[in-house]
Amino acid sequence: MYINARVMELVDIQDLKSWGSNAVPVQLRPRVHAPGDRDVTGIPLIDSHCHLDMVIERGLGVEEITRCLEENNVGTIVEIGADKQAMLWARTLAHTAKRFDVYYTIGHHPGEAATEDSEFGLNFIEENSSDSRFVAVGEIGLDYYYHAEQAEAQKKVFIEFVRAARRSGRGIAIHTRDAHADTFAILREEAKDIPILIHCFTGTKTEMEDFLSLGAYISFSGIVTFKNATSLQEAAIACPLERIMVETDAPFLAPVPQRGKINQPGYVKHTLDFLATLRSENVATLAFAAFGNTKAFYRINN
Ligand SMILES: [Zn+2]
Repeated sequence: MYINARVMELVDIQDLKSWGSNAVPVQLRPRVHAPGDRDVTGIPLIDSHCHLDMVIERGLGVEEITRCLEENNVGTIVEIGADKQAMLWARTLAHTAKRFDVYYTIGHHPGEAATEDSEFGLNFIEENSSDSRFVAVGEIGLDYYYHAEQAEAQKKVFIEFVRAARRSGRGIAIHTRDAHADTFAILREEAKDIPILIHCFTGTKTEMEDFLSLGAYISFSGIVTFKNATSLQEAAIACPLERIMVETDAPFLAPVPQRGKINQPGYVKHTLDFLATLRSENVATLAFAAFGNTKAFYRINN
């Protein structure tokens, strides 16, 4: 329903194995450096979900983050503004970053359900609805792992943000943990006509199929690279190519072989490589599809 037909057509018609830098469609090139000059696959990558403010807070320097992005050919990132400070920071970053393309979201993390920041977020969505760098409402959703006692408040805030997303013409990036049934029920009721992304998907294949039935995109983070993540890996193998996305959710949960380190957007390459092997897919095919799906969901056109 929300497939970017043009991107999928490009996947079909390109001979992916013979891609050189010249074969990469111009509109998908990152703004600054030429694809192929640092990375053997030559495919520009995107981190579809990260918290760069927290990466920096945890001690990584901007130079180090930038170097890692360049080494891994990551030219575009989506910065998540899921509380008051983060959304202000994300908007500033999106409008001032020079070496990379940065887009941002506005949302309300379910862990913050009971705080007054939700009003601020709803107003911020209104206020920025004509900003083309503001690309989705999120992350929003339900988290019963940490905050089951706030379930009712979480549901109320979640629904308010879904409705705000519809008014502003944006898709929704969903956080869900130990709350599959309620998340699915609310999405089915409230979000049929809105592009949906399940961020940092950690569920089972069956749960994934529920979300796919709503036309959702499914985004995999470094968790899928962990040895014990077998049921998640089973879902990742079954995820249709035209629905798959990849993210770091940095600074959390760095992928193997960087596990235990502070995660950063450049590490999205490791998760992508892992997924390609897991799915017995050409890494270029997967990278190109994930890039196209991310742009389609966020409606990024450059
Ligand atoms: Zn996140």
